[in-house]
Amino acid sequence: MHSESWTDTMQVCENGHKITDHAVLWPQGRRNRCPDCGAVTLMKCPSCQADIHGGEVVMGVGYNSDTLPPAHCHQCGEAYPWKEKVAIRDAEAKKRAEEMAKEKELQKTGGNSYNIGPIGTIANSPLMMGSPGASQTVTVTFTTDSADDLKVLIKSLLDSLDELGLSAPDKETVKDDAEYLKKKLDGGKAEPGLVRECLNGIKKKLADAAATAASSQIVTKAGHYLGLIGDFIAANFGG
Ligand SMILES: [Zn+2]
Ligand SMILES: [Zn+2]
Repeated sequence: MHSESWTDTMQVCENGHKITDHAVLWPQGRRNRCPDCGAVTLMKCPSCQADIHGGEVVMGVGYNSDTLPPAHCHQCGEAYPWKEKVAIRDAEAKKRAEEMAKEKELQKTGGNSYNIGPIGTIANSPLMMGSPGASQTVTVTFTTDSADDLKVLIKSLLDSLDELGLSAPDKETVKDDAEYLKKKLDGGKAEPGLVRECLNGIKKKLADAAATAASSQIVTKAGHYLGLIGDFIAANFGG
C-alpha cells in the first residue's frame, strides 16, 4: 500500500496544536478534540480536502515526529485555520523572551545597586489583593503581607517545577533560588534586593523555557508564573 518512503497525515486542532504527525501509521494517537484547548481536530484541508502533511516514514528505518503544523495547504495553497493564531502565539513568546533578556541586561549594567536599597523604599508600596472578581488596592509593607503572598507563590512554583519545560540544569537553578528565597522568607530575613534578584533570575529561566517549549501547555504554565512574578515585582519594586 505504501512505497518505501511516504508522508504521513498530521492531525491538528483548529488552534494549531499538533495532535499527531502520524495519524495513519499510529491511528491510536488521533483525537476528536484537542487535549490542550478542546477545539475540533482536522486531518484534511478544509478547502480542498487534501490530507495535511505530517511526518515522513521510511519503511524499515523509522519515522520522524518533529514536524510542525504547516501554515498553508500543500495542494491548494489556502492558509490553514490556525495560521494566524500560531503566528500570534509565536510572536508573544518571542516578545516575552526578548523582554526578559533586556531586563537581564539592565540588571547587569545596573550592578548591585538594587541590592542595597533600604527597606523603606518598598515599604508601603501598593499591592493588589482581594478575592476573584473584586480586587482592591491595599497598602502593605513588604516584610509582612507581601512576604506571605510571595511564600504562597514560591510554594506553588516549587510544586509545579516539573511542568514548566525547564531544562535539567535550569530546573536545579530555579529550585535552588526558590528554596533559598523560601528559607529567607520563613526566617523573616528576606532582604528586598535579594528577593528581587532571585525573582528576576527565576523569571529569566521561565522565559527561556516558554520560548523553547514543545507544547502550548508548557507555554501557558510557564507564562502563568512569569505573570505572577512580574506582577509581584511591579507591585513591590516598581517594575
Ligand atoms: Zn488545541
Ligand atoms: Zn487545500
